[in-house]
Amino acid sequence: MKTHPGICRRKARFASEADAIAVAERAELALRPYRCELCRQWHLTSRTKGMKLPTFELARRRAPP
Ligand SMILES: [Zn+2]
Repeated sequence: MKTHPGICRRKARFASEADAIAVAERAELALRPYRCELCRQWHLTSRTKGMKLPTFELARRRAPP
């Protein structure tokens, strides 16, 4: 995914995909972690089109709470 410098600066950064996923799991919105080309860290996006579902969301869909 292409990231604009302004977006990169504004967004929360995570050092690892696992950190980003931990936050996405607790979020109200469906969020996807992605690797940023600019800072080489991870951000979350709510633009989920074309992105594969993370493991926790697959599990959630199989067994809704
Ligand atoms: Zn970034």
